[in-house]
Amino acid sequence: MNELKIFVPATIANVSCGFDVLGLALDTVGDEMTIRKVSEKGIKITKILGQDLPLETHKNVAGVAALALLTKANCDFGFEIEINKCIKPGSGIGSSAASSAGAVWAMNELLGKPFTITDLVKFAMEGERLASGVAHADNVAPALFGGFTLVRSYEPLDILSIHTPKELYATVIHPQIEIKTSDARNILKATVPLKDAIKQWGNLGGLISGLYTEDYDLIGRSLEDYIIEPIRSILIPAFESVKQEAKNAGALGCGISGSGPSIFALSKGKKTALSVANAMKLVYNKVGIDYDIHVSKVNTKGIKILDSK
Ligand code: ADP
Repeated sequence: MNELKIFVPATIANVSCGFDVLGLALDTVGDEMTIRKVSEKGIKITKILGQDLPLETHKNVAGVAALALLTKANCDFGFEIEINKCIKPGSGIGSSAASSAGAVWAMNELLGKPFTITDLVKFAMEGERLASGVAHADNVAPALFGGFTLVRSYEPLDILSIHTPKELYATVIHPQIEIKTSDARNILKATVPLKDAIKQWGNLGGLISGLYTEDYDLIGRSLEDYIIEPIRSILIPAFESVKQEAKNAGALGCGISGSGPSIFALSKGKKTALSVANAMKLVYNKVGIDYDIHVSKVNTKGIKILDSK
């Protein structure tokens, strides 16, 4: 095998109560990438469709992640990368993570899988460091493992794959405003009041338990964020209305996707997820803000091969 064409999923990081540790992969939203072995050593990004992003290897997260892998692999050849970008950068659904994760996943396949998925997460995190200044794993981990993932520890890196209930759907609305990931991080406080931390870790435990037992009520009760959302939501227009209307339409819970501005809701079943999408759309129609909207099952497979040569 010399060439792979893959689908790389968009991802929702944090999932309300799991800032920097929890994430999930989407099924119907993602990028396509083609990675091929070439005789020339090193990494070359030869084509980017859909978005205006740098082709220089060191400036593109896919290139940086690929180089991180290459320094640990013993190869006398190189790789070319093509990216068909469908996830808008800065949307809050893991645009940079998809490129980083896709590049290293396909390279590992073409090399005969010398690395573990956790190794690939480490390489992809170098791409995240370029995109946001912080090597976080809460988008790259679900893109690579699929389903829900929990970063139990960053040092040493310990990632757990969490069970995904069968009927869980996500609705994501992306208001067309720009929030820089670095700004969304800079406004956060460095310390957390103990009373908020107690509520937050109660919810994170509750959510993990609800996912394993497929207890949708418990999942809904646990989808609350007492630490990050109160601060970040002020950057997102009509956030409280979108959240309220999503819940009125039957969503289990609703919060900020990654660092925003996308807002996600989780629902039991596709029908409810579609009603939630309509309710969210109405809010932005009323205030006159353009948006993209996605309804997707949670993707338990992660990256998928579309073609190989
Ligand atoms: P999201 O908010 O969707 O997670 P990020 O903020 O993580 O997106 O990443 C967007 C930033 O990463 C932008 O500054 C963009 O220019 C940069 N970047 C570099 N290479 C890529 C790439 N291949 N795909 C997406 N973003 C990239």
